[in-house]
Amino acid sequence: MVRPTHAVVDLARLVANYRAIREYLAAASAAPPRIIAVIKANAYGHGAVAVARALEAAEAEGGAPTLACADIEEGIELREAGIRAPVLVFGALSVSDLDGVFRHRLTPTVSSPSAARRLRAAAAARGCRLGVHVKVDTGMNRFGFRHDNLRRTMPALGAGDAGPLRVEAVYTHFATAESADHPLFERQRGCFESVRAAMRELGLRGAWCHAANSAALLRDRRTWYDAVRPGLLLYGVVPPPMEEHVPVRPVLSLHSRVVAVKGMRRGETAGYGARFAAPRAMRAAVVPAGYADGLDLRLAGAASVLVRGRRAPVIAVSMDSTTIDVTDSDVSPGDPVVIVGEQDGDSIDARELARAIGTVPHEILCRMGARIARVHQGL
Ligand SMILES: *Cc1c(COP(=O)(O)O)cnc(C)c1O
Repeated sequence: MVRPTHAVVDLARLVANYRAIREYLAAASAAPPRIIAVIKANAYGHGAVAVARALEAAEAEGGAPTLACADIEEGIELREAGIRAPVLVFGALSVSDLDGVFRHRLTPTVSSPSAARRLRAAAAARGCRLGVHVKVDTGMNRFGFRHDNLRRTMPALGAGDAGPLRVEAVYTHFATAESADHPLFERQRGCFESVRAAMRELGLRGAWCHAANSAALLRDRRTWYDAVRPGLLLYGVVPPPMEEHVPVRPVLSLHSRVVAVKGMRRGETAGYGARFAAPRAMRAAVVPAGYADGLDLRLAGAASVLVRGRRAPVIAVSMDSTTIDVTDSDVSPGDPVVIVGEQDGDSIDARELARAIGTVPHEILCRMGARIARVHQGL
């Protein structure tokens, strides 16, 4: 049984997007970078296990894909579902996580000297060598070794000798890759170039480099290095305000149905706080999806949904339902509603909703609630 509100995740599109990115990279480079597929946050709401399985199967011919998630728990979920691909964990490690890293063959990110010391001790105690990626902070000011004092902090890794940690890669993350004119992007790129130049001296000879999220991948080939880390692009959404370079299509669509239709007289109000007042006699329809499902309250007055081949403006969002204006169309209960996706030649995507409420498409996708069933199809 599926609720009227459900998300359809088209895995054939996901695989097509993955291949389109791979072809884009291959067309521009004799030695194209590998792809680290970012499937954190339940694969941006698409269902991490299903996405991982689809990518693993798609890559069966072309070598093992690397997957990336945010924390150890997300990595363990993949392992418990039988995913065998290398799994890179982006987030900072806490003490309690360490055991999971070893038990589930996850590749942690080392982002501080203290984490390096703890991991070294844990690997030594288990008598094994652990592959890690090292994060360098070039301007995001979040995770990572500061780029400007690596000579002092890197020795904590013990990377020069055959110590318990094997540094497989060094990476950084851009804060402003999608804004064409923000100077921080070039500054970060310059900092990372200096880190690369110093890698031999820092005992990191032979480690790979990676830096590019979706926006950097599209924007600047110089950020490709040995691997790229697309998230949003894999799900078929080009990071705004960038224009499309790669032929990707949205993987997720969000569907519902009208459950009630009613007349409103001029001056009557709809929803909590009576924030919407009918400027004339109207027909309103109720859709059973609300902010508990991830629909933002601010969509009221700012966005529409598709029903009967038309755009119906959102007039109120409550916890479990949304009211839309269907005054000029012949809508009745049971009619299919598209909140994200395509209907009768029109479409609404995560970029449009993000723009309407002043956020990024990542947030639109990730906030889709746990109550919404993901129906995986296409493969
Ligand atoms: C989330 C994330 C990405 C992917 O970003 P997109 O904008 O979705 O491509 C890449 N790298 C890191 C470290 C991330 O946290």
